[in-house]
Amino acid sequence: MLDLNVINQIKDYAKVNNVPIMTDSGIYYLIKYITKNKVKRVLEIGTAIGYSAIMMCSADPELTVTTIERDEKRYLEALKNIKKLKLEERIHLIYNDALEVKIDDFYDLIVIDAAKAQNQKFFEKFEKNLFEDGTIITDNMKFHGLVEKNLDEIESRNLRQLVHKIKDYITFLKTNKKYETEFLDIGDGLAISKKV
Ligand code: SAH
Ligand code: MG
Repeated sequence: MLDLNVINQIKDYAKVNNVPIMTDSGIYYLIKYITKNKVKRVLEIGTAIGYSAIMMCSADPELTVTTIERDEKRYLEALKNIKKLKLEERIHLIYNDALEVKIDDFYDLIVIDAAKAQNQKFFEKFEKNLFEDGTIITDNMKFHGLVEKNLDEIESRNLRQLVHKIKDYITFLKTNKKYETEFLDIGDGLAISKKV
């Protein structure tokens, strides 16, 4: 069992420091998914401070997570949190840009929750690491409701480009014949892509 005090401290830290961790409903869905599908090996792109990796571990004592983070401060905080909960044996933390890391292992589940403009790059890079019956889950498909808006309603040019990228990623998933993708209105929007 996870120490709930520590979990709440991690959530408080995220709030105070504006770390965009997954919402409760997103985490709840992941945990249910892991249990139902007997997921044992997870690859996560975007650790932040370790919250989602830690919560996924609570689903199954046999589960292991390899997770990648490029921001040093967040990586160090994640390391601290994982130690506090004695999950060092189960969570393998990689401090690097996910697009630079070489990974040869296979996973039942890949969670993409990093730079939203790079979703397709992450997907195409890591799909080779998925078992035959594996699934890729992408977070923030709604991007705080902005994806439903018309692009000309969004004032900031950078934000507009980012939303455009997410829309392109949705098209990429919808037209990808190798996967069947379901879009769920859970948390900030989840895409569940199962290999067919
Ligand atoms: N999954 C976490 C939240 C991740 S927030 C949770 O729910 O608890 C997204 C993180 O992805 C940020 O910390 C950011 O630094 C990291 N990130 C963005 N692009 C990345 C990349 N190319 N490689 C590794 N990490 C990246
Ligand atoms: Mg997210």
